[in-house]
Amino acid sequence: MPSDLSTPSDLQQVVGWTPSHADSLYHLASWGDGYFGVNGEGHVAVRPVRGADTSIDLFDVVRDLRERGIGFPALIRFQDILKSRVQHLNEAFIEAIEKSGYGATYQGVYPIKVNQLREVLEEILAAGEPYGHGLECGSKSELVATLPYLADRDVLLLCNGSKDREMVRLMLAGQRLGKRVFPILERSDEIGLLEGEARGLGVEAEIGVRVRLTTRGAGLWSESGGEHSKFGLSLTEIIELVDSIRAGQLPVRLRLVHFHLGSQIADLGTLTQAVEEATRVYAWLRARGIDVDYLDVGGGLGVAYEAGNQRALSAINYELADYAQAVVSTVKRVCDEEGAPHPTLVSESGRAVTAHHSVLVVQAVGNRRKVARRVEALPEEAHHILRELFSLQGQLDAATGPSTPQDLDRLLTHARELRSEMAGAFRRGTLSVEDKALFEQLYWAFGMEIDRRAQVADPMQRTRALDALASELVDHYHCNFSVFRSMVDYWAIGQRFPIVPIHRLDEPPTRRGILVDLTCDSDGKVDKFVSETGDKRHLELHDVRPDEPYYLGLFLMGAYQDIMGDMHNLFGRVTEVHVFADENEPGSYYIEEILTGATVEEQLALVQYHANDLDRRMGDLIRQQVSAGRLRPNEGVKLLNEYRRMFRSMTYLATETDRVSTNVQ
Ligand code: PLP
Repeated sequence: MPSDLSTPSDLQQVVGWTPSHADSLYHLASWGDGYFGVNGEGHVAVRPVRGADTSIDLFDVVRDLRERGIGFPALIRFQDILKSRVQHLNEAFIEAIEKSGYGATYQGVYPIKVNQLREVLEEILAAGEPYGHGLECGSKSELVATLPYLADRDVLLLCNGSKDREMVRLMLAGQRLGKRVFPILERSDEIGLLEGEARGLGVEAEIGVRVRLTTRGAGLWSESGGEHSKFGLSLTEIIELVDSIRAGQLPVRLRLVHFHLGSQIADLGTLTQAVEEATRVYAWLRARGIDVDYLDVGGGLGVAYEAGNQRALSAINYELADYAQAVVSTVKRVCDEEGAPHPTLVSESGRAVTAHHSVLVVQAVGNRRKVARRVEALPEEAHHILRELFSLQGQLDAATGPSTPQDLDRLLTHARELRSEMAGAFRRGTLSVEDKALFEQLYWAFGMEIDRRAQVADPMQRTRALDALASELVDHYHCNFSVFRSMVDYWAIGQRFPIVPIHRLDEPPTRRGILVDLTCDSDGKVDKFVSETGDKRHLELHDVRPDEPYYLGLFLMGAYQDIMGDMHNLFGRVTEVHVFADENEPGSYYIEEILTGATVEEQLALVQYHANDLDRRMGDLIRQQVSAGRLRPNEGVKLLNEYRRMFRSMTYLATETDRVSTNVQ
């Protein structure tokens, strides 16, 4: 198995490499959920339709886009995957309901916060129509966007999040239009708002309530649940609410009980506990004569980002079908124990619906690696620090047998001391520029040899210094994208995403690299990767060839990443491409739509720089130079036109020559 080969030189020695080696090296089977694999040509293949043979070559799509003049990064959306996810979710609940003899149905809602793009919402609603799949909104804008989409009267629109008076009024207007728009009480002070508006309109408001559970999740999103979570009513508040309803003091009808444990629920044990807790509350309400008929288990259905590493903070230990089964059987058991009717089940699964459908394709525009050099001898007059390093290399070469990590650590520590001595000597002016450069080359050659030996030594005995050396030796792949714009959860909460070269997978990767983005921020890099062990700090990559673009796919990007990204360095929205599977088309797909990314002008306008004003200022600068005779008028016009053209440029690098550079540091 090539994944445990460690140094670039080891990787080069892999013999008998086939695309299936790449499949396992990049763990496509673990996180791809059947949608992604590697084809015989060594390209990533997308199988967007569950259970069907249709296979789209992702590299074909990329070549197609290049021929159409589309630059990268580009977010490629596979609309059929969205459809497939909605079907999969609903079918899993239907199956669990049948299997358990559950006495009611499932009616999911899509929380649009996960990905608000209109095409995403429309695709989900279209795929969900046979199942009555509805929507969830969490803000004023989301409410305004979703309400007009409620075609069917039975489809739900659940309104979570903080509310103001005009939002409540619109929710109640939705009810007057005959739609199932349920404001969900998140805090007890919202009751007054609801009461006031319902009385004003002379209607009985149908509402839901979010219960604050004791159970809380684990991992990166655990703060959404538990007793101290931001939202939800405590049991004391719920008792007060029920007393007021029963006393006829509130013009509301409570129809839904809701909880949300947090995104990416790690294990079914926690989910089951939360469902038990919420179902007890539901049954208690029924026993008090409150005819609640929906139980909403919130979001949190997880996505396997992590290649089977169970220790990762975002790891999950179940499949979608297990989740549905756990919800259905737990609600049934508790209701049967309590003698309560089975409620209609609702889940607000977002991540699990959208994550798989989009892939961000980025181009590596350069590769920076350490330059290492060995020399046979040093000149007589060489600086003593250089001679000492040379002698350390000699000691290492003389040790022919396996070296212990402690031996290697000792040699490395010595070399590092020499390195800081060398830096001091350079600052004091006693070491020349040439000698410093030579020292660095010798040092990296020495480091690579230490690392090669350390990688084959017992990993349990590897020292921190040896690990640090391994990280220093990786190549930096400069990629045409912004971590802050496109992969914000990686930067903000350390969420790892699967990354795979989308072509050349029929060749063994020969380098170890990390990705660095275009922003001028040192955080703008990706140096943690999904793996079985969770501690992977590099990715196996191919040598970038001059004049041949090298593309990487950043997978499972469809949930939250598109929408939460920020404008660091004013990098804008990336180009989006909507791909549909079609067996009758060459390559089994067609591109339905291309939405070009934000231009420089659009991005600047967001921070109040306007093209007219900038144009005028630039014109003034040029005119001054022309008047002073430092620039010919013709040159001035050309310069201004070039500047103006930039307004229409994408915010990312234009790589029309597809040239990549490899440089050494
Ligand atoms: N419902 C609520 C109330 C949420 O806050 C969220 C997001 O965390 C979701 C649903 C969607 O969760 P997920 O995308 O994990 O399914």
